[in-house]
Amino acid sequence: MLKRPLVAAVKQVFRAVNRLGWQRQCYVCRKTFASFSRYRGGSRRQPDFQEKLDYAGSDVDHFGCMYCGAHDRERHLFMFFDALGLWERMTSAHVLHFAPEKNLSPKIISHSPALYVKADFYPTDDSVRKIDATDIPFADEAFDVLVANHVLEHIPDYRKALSEFYRVLKPNGLAILQTPYSRLLKKNFEDDGITGDAARLFFYGQEDHVRVFGEEDFFRALEDAGFKLRIQRHDAYFDAATTARYGIPAREDLVMLEK
Ligand SMILES: [Zn+2]
Repeated sequence: MLKRPLVAAVKQVFRAVNRLGWQRQCYVCRKTFASFSRYRGGSRRQPDFQEKLDYAGSDVDHFGCMYCGAHDRERHLFMFFDALGLWERMTSAHVLHFAPEKNLSPKIISHSPALYVKADFYPTDDSVRKIDATDIPFADEAFDVLVANHVLEHIPDYRKALSEFYRVLKPNGLAILQTPYSRLLKKNFEDDGITGDAARLFFYGQEDHVRVFGEEDFFRALEDAGFKLRIQRHDAYFDAATTARYGIPAREDLVMLEK
């Protein structure tokens, strides 16, 4: 019976100490602290081979902000969008946002899009429409901007989703399609024998992922769908000190695409 209050007390002390730090800063809420939270215990808790896949994806060691909850991938988009002036593309535009993030969403709305649709296959609240990315219920060329941050790795027929993303974008439209992929693997890694939470967690890194993308396969699929690659390198915008301070994934480039 004593264990639970003890754990809560230790957590409380840890949070209080963390607040005193200044080495890290959340780019979204601007607060400073000592460290970001780890995702599920961080990289030391991942299977060895996951580490060796050389993932361009989430930074599990510098994951969540203790104040606003923004995770590394979300903070990274804020920084890329600022650096590239992409927020202006939202103004008066039609924007389709899959798996809308808690902080990114109001930021997009603050730039006054003419239409803003929040979409998810598993909506968590009434403001989000249930939309299947492989069968998007909108006409061709309905949107100027499409954001799907870490969505494709959850979709079995991701090539269908890419063709739908392309279809609903206007010519010269902008798509931001972040997904984790392995810089080691050339081909995607997925197998019908890998089913169930435990196997998916082990082989794909998360229970609800359905593959590990290989770099070549992933980028070829984007081009096959018709997209023009406008990949923006992390290193071109953020130095090591900035990367460390804001806890953003150094290996993740911005998967920016145009139609
Ligand atoms: Zn924050």
